[in-house]
Amino acid sequence: MKILVDTHTHTNASTHAYGSVLENLALAKQKGLEGVCMTNHAPALPDGAHLFHFQNCFELPDYIDGVRLFKGIEANIMGKHGRLDIDEGLQKKMDFIIASAHTPCYLPKNEKECTQMWLNVIKNPYVSALGHSGRMKVQYDYETVIRAAKEAGKCIEINSYSFRSANGIFAEHCRQIALWCKTLGANIVVSSDAHTPFLIGEVSAAVAFLEEIEFPEEQIINLNLKRFEEYFENQKGRRD
Ligand SMILES: [Zn+2]
Ligand SMILES: [Zn+2]
Repeated sequence: MKILVDTHTHTNASTHAYGSVLENLALAKQKGLEGVCMTNHAPALPDGAHLFHFQNCFELPDYIDGVRLFKGIEANIMGKHGRLDIDEGLQKKMDFIIASAHTPCYLPKNEKECTQMWLNVIKNPYVSALGHSGRMKVQYDYETVIRAAKEAGKCIEINSYSFRSANGIFAEHCRQIALWCKTLGANIVVSSDAHTPFLIGEVSAAVAFLEEIEFPEEQIINLNLKRFEEYFENQKGRRD
């Protein structure tokens, strides 16, 4: 299984990431990827990119050296109401929105609150994917949330970086989430969450597990560029 669109990558617009757009795309090209979503942290995170980064990113071309560049964002969920830290006007413009919970912005207190948060995020028509939802100590009602995500056409992100962090707890969460997605027939995107150009497209941990559980390839939306573009064109049609 080879994932040809990396849906979650950071550039040095956030100072804890280290590559320029050109460097990220050059490595993507070298690795044979067809597309990359640039998804820097939104402004509410202390080290997030400035709002101007997102407002101006449409100046960038759609293709760099043959690799499709999507202008995305990793937006911060600001409470159990599920609201994001960028306004609706900007949400409408972005090619790809990952909604993630990050500790400095908001962390649900318990499973009930976490479930509520995701259910509210899913109601947002502009959100494309639920970001690294296994990377929290607090879990959520996987069946309820993943079923709702499927009905709303949202993808669940299987974030390969989560498999490498925090003594295996998050990896275990990710496994459970992937298994529920398989059981319920929910769509996923598989991403690197790269903070350096060298890790663009590095999704081997996630792919190894998906292969182990024989995850259906037709439910992986970013398997290739054609499928990814068609899916999100369709999603735009649903909300307009
Ligand atoms: Zn994140
Ligand atoms: Zn990230």
